[in-house]
Amino acid sequence: MKKGILSILLLFITNIIFAQVATVSSPDGKLKLDIFLEEGQPKYSVEYDGKTALEKSPLGLLTNEGDFSKNLTFKEQTVEQVEKKYTQDKIKKSDIHYVANKLTSSFEDEKQRGLSIVFQVSNNDIAFRYELPAWGERRAVVIEEEATGFKFPEYTTTFLSNMMGAMGAFARTSPSYESGYTNDEPVGKGTYGNLGYVFPGLFRLGNDNWVLLSETGVSSQYNASHLSDGTKDGLYHIQYPHLNQNNGFGSRGAQISLPGVTPWRTITVGNTLKPIVETTIAFDVVEPLYQPSQEYKFGRGTWSWIVWQDQSMNWDDQVKYIDFAADMGYEYILIDALWDANIGYEKMEELIDYAHSKNVDVFLWYNSNGAFNDAPQGPRNRMSTSIARKEEMKWLQKIGVKGLKVDFFGGDKQETMRFYEDILSDANDYGLMIIFHGCTLPRGWERMYPNFVGSEAVLASEMLIFSQDVREKEAFYATLHPFIRNTVGTMEFGGVFMNKFLNRGNTRGQERLTTDVFQIATGILFQSPVQMFALTPNNLTDAEGFLMDFMKDIPTTWNETLYIDGYPGKYTVIARRNGDNWYIAGVNAMEEAIELQLDLPMLKGEKVNIYNDNNKKEPTLINHTIKKDGSYKVTIQPNGGFVIKQ
Ligand code: CA
Repeated sequence: MKKGILSILLLFITNIIFAQVATVSSPDGKLKLDIFLEEGQPKYSVEYDGKTALEKSPLGLLTNEGDFSKNLTFKEQTVEQVEKKYTQDKIKKSDIHYVANKLTSSFEDEKQRGLSIVFQVSNNDIAFRYELPAWGERRAVVIEEEATGFKFPEYTTTFLSNMMGAMGAFARTSPSYESGYTNDEPVGKGTYGNLGYVFPGLFRLGNDNWVLLSETGVSSQYNASHLSDGTKDGLYHIQYPHLNQNNGFGSRGAQISLPGVTPWRTITVGNTLKPIVETTIAFDVVEPLYQPSQEYKFGRGTWSWIVWQDQSMNWDDQVKYIDFAADMGYEYILIDALWDANIGYEKMEELIDYAHSKNVDVFLWYNSNGAFNDAPQGPRNRMSTSIARKEEMKWLQKIGVKGLKVDFFGGDKQETMRFYEDILSDANDYGLMIIFHGCTLPRGWERMYPNFVGSEAVLASEMLIFSQDVREKEAFYATLHPFIRNTVGTMEFGGVFMNKFLNRGNTRGQERLTTDVFQIATGILFQSPVQMFALTPNNLTDAEGFLMDFMKDIPTTWNETLYIDGYPGKYTVIARRNGDNWYIAGVNAMEEAIELQLDLPMLKGEKVNIYNDNNKKEPTLINHTIKKDGSYKVTIQPNGGFVIKQ
């Protein structure tokens, strides 16, 4: 009898201490989120289709005004529907309809200071952030750390890229999101120096679910964050930038005004990889921060630096690449580092006039530095203060330059996020598009900043030139990007090589290990609205003509993107539509040829061109009519690829 009362009492207490306080589901009911308050700490868990996506995971903020990760009380919840239609011409899809159920859970600390946690749950995505009201007279706060975490089941495997150490790599320019990814590793493996992992990170929960974690909506108003090393049982936390970034200058956390918000953290969930490839959540929950000063024109470009390197920064070679861009029908040339010293400001005006006479517009390279690393290439100190920047941009506008590639940033601190935003905002005033290199992941920037047209933030084409290991893993990495890095943001990879050897002579040295058709397939697989291709002028005569014709026509903007097949690290097939034309592209990173039965309902009975490799890895082109049922059986050679073009 006594024992019975005790267990009822225990159950009662347990319910108070571990109370579930709120719940919300996606519009289709499959994605379900529960909020708990355990001993004053808010937690959440996520299920998809009745199966675990995240186990109970911690929430909360640590501020200079107090600890908002414990001793909280639950006040109330509200649920409302969010619906939004928008168009975007710089991402994987052009017309987006976002519908979500929005749950706001409000908490208070012991001093009655409020904190709300907002979750927006759409069919395959959760975006959440913290919202802070003004606390009495307190209208400014510093967020120092977060308790926010993501708890995966122990059997989860991970596809992650480690955060680079601060002030390392070339001329102390790291971190720059250029570590490469590992695949299918157990949780809790850890990184050298406990540096954690960059966003996005992909997680496979056995045969149950795939989960992609990322972050969006980071502007000058916050620092960018990343994932900590995981614990052995699968808990990853939100981690703020290492204090040593930016040569130790600037804080790790964020200084915000009250009322204020944190960036959105995003969780994309599906029982296949389809929602991972097709998600637009990075763009759904952000808004443009200013209007474009004009209509920006995206397109294709040539750039000499990637294969011909620093020595090509001279008048004659740049003329060759301008003529080459004109022959390809490309819109742009990117004139890379050292033009200030090797061609000079005066001669540049003449060179740009020459480009215009050939109907080619110009992107120019700039060093972002400044004071925070040792990158020696010029122009230096022209982007790093608003006085120099506006003076330079006025000149750039006068001579008709259309865009800049700004390189070598100092990390993820709020200090650096302000710098990115200042460059973007000033550039818009002078009609300039911006590409960032040596940089962080763009977090919703395609939509937030109208003149932002691409970020590197990947182990990019330059490392194929520099590293045998990266050449050997070229296909491996290519199969990962559409599922991870490139699905949350534009990826300025600078690829598509036709040289057999990745140098100017093209007769020996850095041998390319992937096929020619693999290369053109990456032109479709890798998405960025402005693409600087790694083709060289000699390719007009030494590369296969029908591949160069394909490259002359290749689009860089897309109305739709669909997952077709694949597994990160093994092989990948995706479809993209530009206007009325579908492109289906695939690559294979496995040691054997792979035969796939593709289901292509968009091409039922359609006449298409099919680019593939024969078993000697030579390029082939056939005309073909896809069967009425939309099926097509394709073989992809190892280190090879294919493209079906409508
Ligand atoms: Ca780089």
